[in-house]
Amino acid sequence: MSNLEDLYREIILDHYRSPRNRGELATPPAHKVEGFNPLCGDEVTVFLDVQDGVLKDIKMTGHGCSISQSSSSLMSGAVKGKPLEQVQATIDMFKELMTVHESSLSKDSERDDEVDLRKLGELAALQGVVKFPVRIKCAVLAWNTLRQGLEEIASSI
Ligand code: ZN
Repeated sequence: MSNLEDLYREIILDHYRSPRNRGELATPPAHKVEGFNPLCGDEVTVFLDVQDGVLKDIKMTGHGCSISQSSSSLMSGAVKGKPLEQVQATIDMFKELMTVHESSLSKDSERDDEVDLRKLGELAALQGVVKFPVRIKCAVLAWNTLRQGLEEIASSI
């Protein structure tokens, strides 16, 4: 198990040091949305280019702790180029990963039944965050910001 945790830590650090899809997109046509986690001081700005029901491109800037920044990098890789239904499903799956059983963290073995870690790929690296509830807000910041941006785009059509 410790090897797996080492691997997860490696993935998080790698995305923190070399964030994917870093930068900005021209607005318009891209949609810009900002998120802030006052508990930790994390900030993220997400640029979304949605065309024909597909998230054609996503770029982001921001700063903050390693969890918030690596989570946004991991997110961008997981949703870029995907149909919006799939993006939404990935958001839901990640939020589920971050919310399961805060009250029964000791029963780690039961978690795998509820969230299929294989479907999550590298996102699974962030599962350890739920053991530190104060960091969950760091991990979900980019995801909440993405969801808000998609809602704004949907309501503006
Ligand atoms: Zn943070």
